[in-house]
Parts: sequence; structure tokens; C-alpha cells
Amino acid sequence: MQTQTAYTPAEERRMERKLEEILNSSYQPLDESGRQLIRKAFETAKEAHARQRRKSGEPFIFHPLEVAHIVAEQIGLDATSIAAALLHDTIEDTDITAGYIRREFGEKITQIVEGLTKIKKLPKDKDFSIQAENFRKLILTLNEDVRVILIKIADRLHNMRTMDSMPRHKQEKIASETLYIYAPLAHRMGLYQIKTELEDLSLKYIDPEAYDEIVRKLKETEEDRRRYIEKFAGLVDARLKELGISYTITGRPKSIFSIYRKMKEKKVDFEDIYDIFAIRIIYKPPEPRKEKMLAWDILSTLTDQFKYNPNRMRNWLDWPRSTGYQALHITVLGPDDKWVEVQIRSERMNEIAEKGYAAHYKYKQGSDEAEELGVEKWLSQLQEILKNPEGNALDFLDEIRLDLYSDEIHVLTPKGDVVSLPKGATVLDFAFHIHTEVGMHTRAAEVNGRIVPLNYVLNSGDLVHIITSPQQKPRQSWLNIATTGRARNKIKAYLRQQEKEIIQEGKEILRRKLRHLKLKTDDKIIGQLQKYFKLPTSKDLFYKVGTGEIGNKELKAFVNAKNNFFLKFFQSPWKRKKEPEKKKVAPAPVEEVNYDLIVFGQEDQRLDYTLANCCNPLPGDEIFGFVTVNEGIKVHKKTCPNAIFLRSRHAHRIIPARWTDSTKQTFKVKLKITGADRPGIVADITRLVSLDMGYRLVRVEFDDKSGFFEGTIIVDLQNTAQLKELMLRIKEIEGVEKIEKI
Ligand code: MN
Repeated sequence: MQTQTAYTPAEERRMERKLEEILNSSYQPLDESGRQLIRKAFETAKEAHARQRRKSGEPFIFHPLEVAHIVAEQIGLDATSIAAALLHDTIEDTDITAGYIRREFGEKITQIVEGLTKIKKLPKDKDFSIQAENFRKLILTLNEDVRVILIKIADRLHNMRTMDSMPRHKQEKIASETLYIYAPLAHRMGLYQIKTELEDLSLKYIDPEAYDEIVRKLKETEEDRRRYIEKFAGLVDARLKELGISYTITGRPKSIFSIYRKMKEKKVDFEDIYDIFAIRIIYKPPEPRKEKMLAWDILSTLTDQFKYNPNRMRNWLDWPRSTGYQALHITVLGPDDKWVEVQIRSERMNEIAEKGYAAHYKYKQGSDEAEELGVEKWLSQLQEILKNPEGNALDFLDEIRLDLYSDEIHVLTPKGDVVSLPKGATVLDFAFHIHTEVGMHTRAAEVNGRIVPLNYVLNSGDLVHIITSPQQKPRQSWLNIATTGRARNKIKAYLRQQEKEIIQEGKEILRRKLRHLKLKTDDKIIGQLQKYFKLPTSKDLFYKVGTGEIGNKELKAFVNAKNNFFLKFFQSPWKRKKEPEKKKVAPAPVEEVNYDLIVFGQEDQRLDYTLANCCNPLPGDEIFGFVTVNEGIKVHKKTCPNAIFLRSRHAHRIIPARWTDSTKQTFKVKLKITGADRPGIVADITRLVSLDMGYRLVRVEFDDKSGFFEGTIIVDLQNTAQLKELMLRIKEIEGVEKIEKI
């Protein structure tokens, strides 16, 4: 099978050395079969890529070798993953097939390599939304194996390290994608070192000048920092020795990228960033069970010795981050009166801080805690969101990215379970975290025994009890309250569904209402309505009818405008101004009660209806109308057993209704208006009557007599209260001097 080699002897030697390095530096101990597997994967990849070289002229095989090295040492994955990393570009770029890998390496490795191949096949594009879609697909591969994404991160890291021979525009594109997608992912997986390197490398290509400048200044100040840390170590050494531990003190400057970000955000210079580095005390507990106690002991030697800022103390010891990160952080006033953050970690904690996922598992092995790592919970939630096929990729990306980068808080359920949420999370987020059904019906919450509203922002340690109500339903405003991707996605999905239903009903309602206005529902009238109400689509129209925002009053105004001689004065007068405050209008006193008609809504509309069979309302009964999807309006008694259910579940389909006497229904009023003439006054009056107040104008006549006008209008009204209000408001119009009923 061995064909003639395409590599020089020097290259052969180099790759052998590299392979040895991988095997020796593997974070997870490799047994003989693991080593053999890796070697076999290497031989396969080496031959498959034999004729390929990178832009720099280097044989391609060094790329999978380097990726495998990152996977083995920095990420710390197992032999299976290292082998998969070696093979990761074979299906895509060489003659090797998935079938071949399956035969030679088995199902697991094939799945991982195929997962990686799928990501690679995504269209490469400048379009941002496609990037977002890529990200979505990337996350989708998590369904198969978390290792896919970890190897993908390693692949990206190596590509970022070797971009020098690439054209500038490509560098920028890859760098921005890395910053946007891969760095946050690495962060979420607990790979802090890799995340930092990805960010720094991205900056190098996106803003090379700023990058160089920060690198230079860090170098210039390096000696100062070293001396400072020495000074600090000198001050604490004696006391730490008293604790009988071995420890090291190191100083870690902030990453180039985070310095850059801080300079941009705070608009300050490099010199003005006070917390450019943190001091780390990494200790080795003599025995595992003393680990935690020693962290507190170290902390108290520091607080004995230095002033400290209690607001900046972080206890990640008892409340690990979902990546498994543990440490105590405290900011003290150190030598030279300088505030400096000190991070206290055991060696184990430090390993987890640097390796994340893999280290967490190394230490979990053999312990019987079967507790799920926060990352895994996060992943399974993510997958749940992904299963929802609706929504566009950009939305999705924004939601997830927020979750990726945010800090965490820990709150407690009434049972004492700890729930991790991103910082800034509200009780509504908490509710959706507990269960979708709980979220959907959240009415309020009790936090530490006190009732709080839905938008209450939670703090670590809060004890949260959610109060639900079956009547409660998600609404648009919840999107201003929910901050987590999970909650927002659920709410959006619900609202979309709701909107569809409202549109469907609105269509039916509109058809019925137009029929009463003696109009046929066809494309022409829909088009006119859209134009009149300035709505982009017919769906918007149906929606507004469905919610009642466009009701009888508005539709009547439309009809009037359509029929009215004065149409030209107000071609598009419909504005979404505040409706004049509706005064509760008492029905006109009726002397003789003769209930023979049911009227609907605030304006006593006459509509088609049928009486519901379940309760058979009789004349004079207290009633309400229910808009069915297919059978028009059904009238129920208010005491109907179905009423409570209908009202709670379908509030927007309920229309008020009452029995009335048909002979007392409406009356026509003739009004005489006089005043000083001015351009537009007639339009103002008709607009007020028919558009603002929504009454039917039966007739309009105006005369002008040199600067003076006299007119009569006939209006259809239902009671004297309406008449009174109408007359008052006409009188308010500029130029109107007198109005009287004739
Ligand atoms: Mn690759």
C-alpha cells in the first residue's frame, strides 16, 4: 500500500518528531492501543495528503499534525479525538471516503470526521447572514459529538496562527469570523487560553496598528510588572509559608484583546488601565480534602495584610462557573498603593481554568458525583432551541452569542437546587429555565420572600419561587424582559403562533364587518383598506382587525372617506394618534323595554349572529359574543358554563353584546353650524365627525357668504351623551362660533 513518498527526508524526520511530541505531550495518558490508533491515523493522513502543500510551501500534513497537537495537549482530549483531528481534512480534500475511515477506524471516528467535514462544506461567503447560518450549522453538529466542535476550534486556531501568506482581505474575513463565532465558543467551552489566543490573533489582522502598539507597551512595562509581583510575593511569603503549603505566585497581564477592548470602551490610553494584570496564587494542597479550606486560609492572610474591596470579592469556589471554573478572587490595595486583583486557585482549579472541559473530566473520573457539567446543560438547551426550525439565523446568533459571553449568577429554587443563569437574568428567564410551561404562565415571583415583578433582575444567592397562573400568556412586552436565548426563543415562537391565529381571525372578522357595511371582501377593497390605513401587507391589515386596533369605528370612517365628497381633503388622514379618551357612555334611558335585537361592541353594532346551543340565551339575558373561526358570531349567556373557559382562553375573540330594542337604536340628528369661514374648515368638521369620532355622516351642506359660513350636517347617533360630546367637540374647532340642534 505504501507508494513512493512525496516528502523529503527532512520533512519525514520533522513529522516523525511532531508525532512523538503529540504522543508525549498528550494531556490524557495514552495506552498502547491509543498510541497505535494515533499512529495509524497519522500514516493514513500522511499518505492521503501526500501531494498537497499549503500556500507557504509546507506539506499539508503538518496542518492536521498541529491540530492534533492542540487537541492532545491544550484541549486535552482522548486518543479517539486525536486520531480524528489527524484525519479531519481527509474526506473533504483527498480521495479517502467515509466508508474507508469507517472500515479502518470504526464508527466513532467516522462520525467526528464527517461532522467536521460538514462544517467545512458550508458555503464560504462575505454575507453576514451566511456566517450566522454557518454558526447555526456548526452548533447543530454538536448533536453528534461535543468533540466535533472542540476539534473545529483547534483547526481554527491553527489556521489563525498560519495566516501570514494569505491575502489581506481573506485574513480580515477569517479574523472577524473567529472573533464573532469561535472565540465566544471557546470561552463557553472553558478554553480560556485558546479563547485569548484566538482573540489576540484576530486583533492582529483586524487592527494591526493597535495590536502592535499594545504588544510594544506590554513589553516596555514587563519589567515593572515583574518587579511589582516580586515585591508582592515578598510581602506575603512568610505568612503563606506558615500555612504549610507549597505555592507559586505569578502575574498574568490581561490579554492584548481585552486591553484593546477596555481602551475602546472606556476611551482611555494604555497607561490609564489600572488592572492591566492580575496576580495568581496557585497552591498545592497536601491532601485533596484540605483544598477548599486552604483557599480561604490564603484569602484571610491577604485580607489581614491588605485593605481590600469587598465588592470585588468573587467566590467561584462554592459557585463554580458552568465551565467548571473555580477560584477565589479578591482585589486588594497592594504595594505602592495600587489596586490589584489576586486569584487564588489550587493546581487542580488552575488546570480546569486552562483546559476547561477535559480537565473537568479528568478530575471527575472515579468520583461518584454524576452531576452534569454546566456546559452540557447549556448544550442540551441549545439543541432544544435548534430543533425549533423557525426564526432566522441572525436572530438566533445574537441570542446565543449573548449567552456565550455573559458572566453567570447562581440562584436557588425553593427545593434548594442551584440554577446558573447569565448575569442580568430576570425572574422570567429563571421561570423559562425551570420549564417552558412554567415560563409561559409566569405571573410574578417571590424572591427571598418578597413579591417582585417579572422584570426583576436576579442576584447570586437569591431564592426564587415562581408564581404561575393558567390565564397568563406570553406577550410582546416579555421580549423586553427576557434576556436568555432560551426564554426569548420560546416567547418568540409563541408570539409567532399567536400572530398567525390573530391574522386568521382578523380575516374572518373583516369579511363579516365589511358585509355589514355592504361591501364585498375582494382584493380591490383589501387594497384600498391597506392604502387607507397605510399598511404594507394584507396580513398587517388582518392582524390589526384581529387585535381590534382597526374596529368598526375605523372601518366606518374608511367607508365614509370612500364615499364622501370631501375625500380629496383627506386622502390619507389616518394617523395613529391617540384616540380621544373614550368617556363611558351610558345607554340612553329606555322607557319601554322590548328586547328584540342583539347589538355588539362599544358602538352597538348590528351583526350576524347565532345563539349558542349550549346555553340558549333569552331576550334580556346578560350575554356576550364569541367570534368563531368558521361559523361567525355565537352568542352565549354570561353564565354559560363555557363562558369562563372561553373568556380566559380566547379573550381577543370576545365581543361585548347586549339585548336592545330595535326601535330605539339610532336616531338622526340635524345640526346647524355657523362661524367664520377659513380654508379647510369644512374638512376639519367632517374629519372630526366621521374619522375621529366615527359617526355616520348622512348629509353635509355648507354655504359660504363672504367670510362667513353656515352649514348643516345630519349624523347618525345612538344617544344623547354622544350628541352632547359631538357638539362640544365641533365647537372647539377653530372658526366655529355656534352649533345647534334643529
Ligand atoms: Mn483543517
